[in-house]
Amino acid sequence: MQRLASAFARLQDAGPWRTWSRVLLVRLAALLLVACAAPARAGPLPLELRPGQAETVLSTQAEVLEDPTGRLDLAGAQAASRWTAHRKPTFNFGFTRSAWWVRLRLHNAGDVALSRVVDSGSVLQDYLSFYVVRAGAAPQATHSGDRRAFGIRPLDARAPAIPLQLAPGETVDVYLRLDTHDGLHEALALKLWEPGAYARVQQNENLVFGLYFGALLSVLIYNLFLWISTRQRSFGCYSAYVCAFLVWGVIFRGYALQYLWPRWPVLNNQVLPLAAAACYCTFGLFAMSYLDTRRNARPWQQRLLAWGTAGNALGALPALFDWYAPTFALSIPFGVMLIVAAVSAGTTLLRAGSRPARYFSLAFALLTLGVFLYYMRVLGLLPSNAVTENCLQIGSALEVVLLSFGLADQMNELRAARLRAEREALAAQRALTHELEGLVAQRTRALEDANRRLAEISITDELTGVFNRRQFNAALQAEAARHQRSRTPLALCLFDIDHFKLYNDRYGHPAGDAVLREVAQAVRGRLRRSGDELFRIGGEEFALLLSVDEGAAGVARFVDELRTAIAGLAIEHAGSALGRVSASFGLVVLAAGAAEAAGGASTPEGIYALADQQLYAAKHAGRNRMAMHEA
Ligand code: GH3
Ligand code: MG
Ligand code: MG
Repeated sequence: MQRLASAFARLQDAGPWRTWSRVLLVRLAALLLVACAAPARAGPLPLELRPGQAETVLSTQAEVLEDPTGRLDLAGAQAASRWTAHRKPTFNFGFTRSAWWVRLRLHNAGDVALSRVVDSGSVLQDYLSFYVVRAGAAPQATHSGDRRAFGIRPLDARAPAIPLQLAPGETVDVYLRLDTHDGLHEALALKLWEPGAYARVQQNENLVFGLYFGALLSVLIYNLFLWISTRQRSFGCYSAYVCAFLVWGVIFRGYALQYLWPRWPVLNNQVLPLAAAACYCTFGLFAMSYLDTRRNARPWQQRLLAWGTAGNALGALPALFDWYAPTFALSIPFGVMLIVAAVSAGTTLLRAGSRPARYFSLAFALLTLGVFLYYMRVLGLLPSNAVTENCLQIGSALEVVLLSFGLADQMNELRAARLRAEREALAAQRALTHELEGLVAQRTRALEDANRRLAEISITDELTGVFNRRQFNAALQAEAARHQRSRTPLALCLFDIDHFKLYNDRYGHPAGDAVLREVAQAVRGRLRRSGDELFRIGGEEFALLLSVDEGAAGVARFVDELRTAIAGLAIEHAGSALGRVSASFGLVVLAAGAAEAAGGASTPEGIYALADQQLYAAKHAGRNRMAMHEA
């Protein structure tokens, strides 16, 4: 029987032949084949179908055939003898250039017509053709797969599927031909559905994925706004990561070809590996920026993250040239490198007590748990239920939301730190201002002191400490003006040490200085009334401005006391007739209103000249005495 079928196939494939004879022969052979096949067709044991079976796994009932040339057609496959039983819940042919055939025999064991859906369960298989072979009828072919436009599918579903009718007692063979664009077969979980159950499952999946993609989209928009308003790198990287993840998910789950670009299957296939590579790259960039690995992680972790990111970016290049498998193959080592680096950097930072690392590690752990549970279910180690079926979506959604919380927390931390810094800066500024004010006050005081000292120095005689000539001139001018204007009395006394040149000659200049100091001290010590001032106006010549409260006689008495006091110092002066240091005094007392009477003597120069005349007179009269002029 099989030989007959293969002879039929060879006939169909045969080269140039005269058409009419070929058609005749083929028809004859087909008739013969159908006649022989009717009682006992070659193929797998029929799967008995009855009403009420909502879902039947077909993969375990199927036989598979490898076609290394990829050139076998339906008849060739039917005729082939190398069919083997499959027995596993999914078909997983992996990386191979071969085409694969799958076949099933379905038998309606009931007495009512059955309506079913054959579901390939694979969204991404490149080329997928269904052939329904019924006894006595030409085979029905349906071509599909994600390398073909979506519109040619008989059912509007993400995974290629066909409707199937089985009359009571009818047996139908279903063949599937699976081929790839560049050698990567997708995993297929072939199932037979009751149409109502099929529709319900599709609806549930759409609801779950709608929620899932909606959550990702809102997280993306939220973080995009944050990035635009804060310009913080982490938000930018994170938005890019969520965007890449969203695009990848929408294509990977078949929604992109179904809704976004149903006429552009090539674009769909090119964007998928690019989005996968972008997921890895943006994840690497985000991890480096969010954890600030350059500063916080070990150098090798940072280097591994950078290489993993760059490797995935490079791995995306072949996909741009419609070369899809290398991108997938490259993403495995570089992806592993990136994940190892991210996990180890996260752990290092976690140990160092980093807050971002807490969010990062927990988010990553949830994603990993989701992936782990997913594969456990795929391998049949976990039962299939709502949680295990959607654990990838749940894990990744939790990861995305948690990382978003982490970013918000980081922003909060940064704001708090900035506020702290601002407060500290303000306090420092206040302290500085305070200190500065203190310093300014201190400097001002010092300056005032210095000025005061300078002013004192400028009016003080260095040797004796009494006022100097400059101050005398000013004081006399003021006194004279007051005397003239306010008609107040005025007393000016000049005195000069007698034979002082001789003293210097005999006892030396330093001894002379000491005498000057002693005389000045003795006179100043006796000045009691306010308005009495002593000035040194020349070498050994002094002036006194005296108050005239007690009248001219009182002043004269006081001046004479001073003269006596000087002589009373009893400083030896061998050159003087007295034998002691003495001084001669010239006194002028101008009574109130005496200015006019003085005849011009009310000017400072005039008053001074009058006093000087009196001093001269005292000297002339024999020294150690006082001469007085009274007006
Ligand atoms: P008379 O009694 O006429 O005033 O004689 P005299 O020698 O005191 O007067 P004279 O004007 O001839 O000499 C003044 C002297 O005073 C000259 C100078 O040696 C001395 N003399 C001036 N200034 C100072 C000074 O600052 N220190 C000392 N030790 N001597 C001074
Ligand atoms: Mg003199
Ligand atoms: Mg003298």
